[in-house]
Amino acid sequence: MNWKVPLFDLDIGKEEIEAISRVIDSKWISMGQVTREFEREFAQRHGAKHGIAVCNCTAALHLALKALGIGKGDEVICPSLTFVATANSILYTGATPVFADIVDKDNLNVSPYDIESKINEKTKVILVVHYAGFPCDMDRIMEIARKYNLFVIEDAAHAPGAEYYSKKRKGKREKVGTIGDIGCFSFFSNKNMTTGEGGMVVTNNDEFADKIRIMRSHGMTSLTWDRYKGLSYNYDVIELGFNYRMDEMRAALGLVQLKKLDKNNERRKKLWKLYKEKLNDIEEVNIPFLKFSGISSYHIFPILLSQKINREDFIQYLRTKGIQTSIHYPPIHLFSYYKKLLRSNDNLPLTEYVGRKEVTLPLFPAMREDDVDYIVKSVKNYLKNSKSF
Ligand SMILES: *Cc1c(COP(=O)(O)O)cnc(C)c1O
Repeated sequence: MNWKVPLFDLDIGKEEIEAISRVIDSKWISMGQVTREFEREFAQRHGAKHGIAVCNCTAALHLALKALGIGKGDEVICPSLTFVATANSILYTGATPVFADIVDKDNLNVSPYDIESKINEKTKVILVVHYAGFPCDMDRIMEIARKYNLFVIEDAAHAPGAEYYSKKRKGKREKVGTIGDIGCFSFFSNKNMTTGEGGMVVTNNDEFADKIRIMRSHGMTSLTWDRYKGLSYNYDVIELGFNYRMDEMRAALGLVQLKKLDKNNERRKKLWKLYKEKLNDIEEVNIPFLKFSGISSYHIFPILLSQKINREDFIQYLRTKGIQTSIHYPPIHLFSYYKKLLRSNDNLPLTEYVGRKEVTLPLFPAMREDDVDYIVKSVKNYLKNSKSF
């Protein structure tokens, strides 16, 4: 379909093509200098000691859990209002995801209160997701983690460049992804910065970083690059590892994209504010995160429709206007596979409410102010016409 305004669009151009060409010309196309540079730059930008590039964020989450020793018999608390990969990564380890509800209809992040109510002796990790790039209440979450001696993993797939304002530590600004034990980022094509497929683990913990680096590449003690450089000629296998590596073309793409991140996040913020101004007075549309303070990466623009608006109808109408929308998210605990597997009677009323009433409108840096006007006008038109019946 040829959209008038697509849900997202890529900011990829000549610079990226040149960076990739340089890698191909060099004939060293996986696990080399460029990947190392991307890891260093990304970690530095996020205030982390270590960055470990991987093939996607799902792999990053899997490795994070493995590095913390999570496996069969363990429970990991996470939101259900997230992409299915968050919970899948827990299942890969043999552990069980336990879903916690969101805070409320303004703050769609996982609720610290509900997290605490789900902790038992099997609980090992709290896996939070910074929804749409708005940081979770990390003061409370870290407090709970310390109280019950749990690890914290941040699924920061939406949140490169986002910052949390700690109230506990006198407004100290902390980069999202480095507040918990391990942070995981995604560079899938629709994320704020992209390598097509790709991900990054960040951590300040040397031991976790070492483990993750080794498990990313078959559990081997030395890397291809070191062997090539003659730094080592033999290796041992000390863990059950995986092949979760990133290649040099993607790392080159990532380096260019990282340079654009701040500018593009600023642009997203501007468009978000414009949406907010223009939609604020519409009774049937609620905009989440209005009470937020901190720095968001404004990954997506979610709205909640009032009870009386039919979402399918609304989405269909925007479609006829050439406006692409999406839903973030169909709750994980309601998917057939998860229902059958977990057989739990999860009570997550707010998550289910958002799952029914949320619509994501287009948001991407190259979007124009005109596009926002057009979308808002279309929303208003729909509401005006739907009121008459
Ligand atoms: C995109 C996404 C992932 C998965 O990232 P991949 O890089 O596609 O594996 C995980 N969690 C959330 C919240 C996401 O949005």
